[in-house]
Amino acid sequence: MEETNGFQQLGLSDEVLAVLKKKGFESPTAIQRLAIPVLLSESCDLIGQAQTGTGKTAAFGLPIIERLELNSGSVGAIVLVPTRELALQVADEIASLRPNPSFAVGVVYGGQSINEQIRRLRKGLDLVVGTPGRVLDLLRRGDLKIDNVSWVVLDEADEMLNMGFVEDIEAILEHTPAERRTLLFSATMPDRIAKLSRKYMRNPKTVQTERTQLTASLTDQIYFEVTEGDKFDALTRIIDIELDFYGMVFCRTRIDVDSLTSRLIERGYSAEGLHGDISQQIREKTMNRFRKKNINILVATDVAARGIDISDLTHVINYSLPQDPEAYVHRIGRTGRAGKQGTAITFITPSESRRLKFFEKATKTSIRKEILPAASDIVEVKKDRIKEELYEIVRSGSYADYLGMAEDILEKNSPEVSLAALLKMAFKSQLDATSYPEIRGFRVDTKGTSRLFVALGRQDGMTPRKLAEFIREKGGVSNNRIDDIVVLDSYSFVTVPYKDAETLLSVFAPEGRDDKPLITKAKPR
Ligand code: AMP
Repeated sequence: MEETNGFQQLGLSDEVLAVLKKKGFESPTAIQRLAIPVLLSESCDLIGQAQTGTGKTAAFGLPIIERLELNSGSVGAIVLVPTRELALQVADEIASLRPNPSFAVGVVYGGQSINEQIRRLRKGLDLVVGTPGRVLDLLRRGDLKIDNVSWVVLDEADEMLNMGFVEDIEAILEHTPAERRTLLFSATMPDRIAKLSRKYMRNPKTVQTERTQLTASLTDQIYFEVTEGDKFDALTRIIDIELDFYGMVFCRTRIDVDSLTSRLIERGYSAEGLHGDISQQIREKTMNRFRKKNINILVATDVAARGIDISDLTHVINYSLPQDPEAYVHRIGRTGRAGKQGTAITFITPSESRRLKFFEKATKTSIRKEILPAASDIVEVKKDRIKEELYEIVRSGSYADYLGMAEDILEKNSPEVSLAALLKMAFKSQLDATSYPEIRGFRVDTKGTSRLFVALGRQDGMTPRKLAEFIREKGGVSNNRIDDIVVLDSYSFVTVPYKDAETLLSVFAPEGRDDKPLITKAKPR
């Protein structure tokens, strides 16, 4: 696929371009496109307005990697960040971007033994990422020297100010030489940031990614909190519980696309991947197969998905969060079109909830948290489908070839035993809930609650929101007491406190003897 706006235009060296290719980055993010050329070609200070997750680490990391002189015997760049978690993340990202492994990156933060960090500092580091408190401690003890740094980065400056680090930051800056380059990144630009920049930066250039007005479509938007390691199993649960899943799954890099596609295929799903390294010819073939629904899962990067216009997707899945709200809207806009209800599902790791909140704000929509379907729910759905298919074969009468064999089998065993054994043979462990790996982090505290089965599903026009509304109206149970809603084709599950469960079971108790109750207790998970 032709790459427009690639990294090639930014003035990066071939060595760095090779690293980016290997890392699977296809094209620069908005902040990278704006900041990298300025940082490489000029020597000015820079203020960048950007959130975490927009690729800002590479936006400042790549120019530092390109320009920092190594083997000077002292620390050449210091990056200050508000939290330990971010310090580790930024250091990892920068380390992964350097073509030359002798470019030594270190990280210092509170809460870890200072002696261990001092030991690493003594070995000599080119770039140090740290939290202000610990950096200042080390400076005062004389274990860290930054009087030779040529780059100072204040990352998430607004957060650092919110956390009360302003004095520490000022004290740290006093230790740095006047001719340093100072870069400041911040999601918001309150007055205090302007003040800080006036005091410590020289004629900074400001780069800001464009904020277009965004309105996400009417697609139902939900998210699940999963650890990175559980994402794959979470995805298979979602695909398995749907009757006709037809969706796109978005990944960040081409490497992620390849590895996810292979895992899906290994597990027997009909999936193919699209990314920038795939030839036009293969791309067209894949698109054709997807359009004709020969495959029902298309895994793609944002770049590869550009220009794909398929209107009847049931799902768009953000396997990783997109880089910015614009990309989010773009991705999810591919479902819920043509008057059909679509679902956009986003996986976030626990540390990404702040970014998701920001996406919600920027797109002016709400993204509802949900709990993944339990393995036992999925198995119930699968069993129902098998029964439906079986009845369909019976109705169509297309089993004549097997009658003789059936008679043979029935001579030796009862019908129940024969059929059960046949099911076991055909479906092996597919109908065993324990074949789904347990996913941590989803266990709700089920103490004091009851899982209920509701005989209404999508066929009856239900969505999680509508079901909660229905239960509130008919049963008087308010929405905030209804949890863990899973709406399937012909029925649903909800979790409510015991007391409410009792109320609902009695409100929905059948009237006539032959009536089926609308709500019953679900089988235990
Ligand atoms: P950051 O905003 O620096 O925390 O970056 C967020 C994530 O985006 C990191 O996992 C990066 O590896 C990834 N990333 C940064 N730049 C790109 C790019 N141009 N293409 C794809 N992923 C990127």
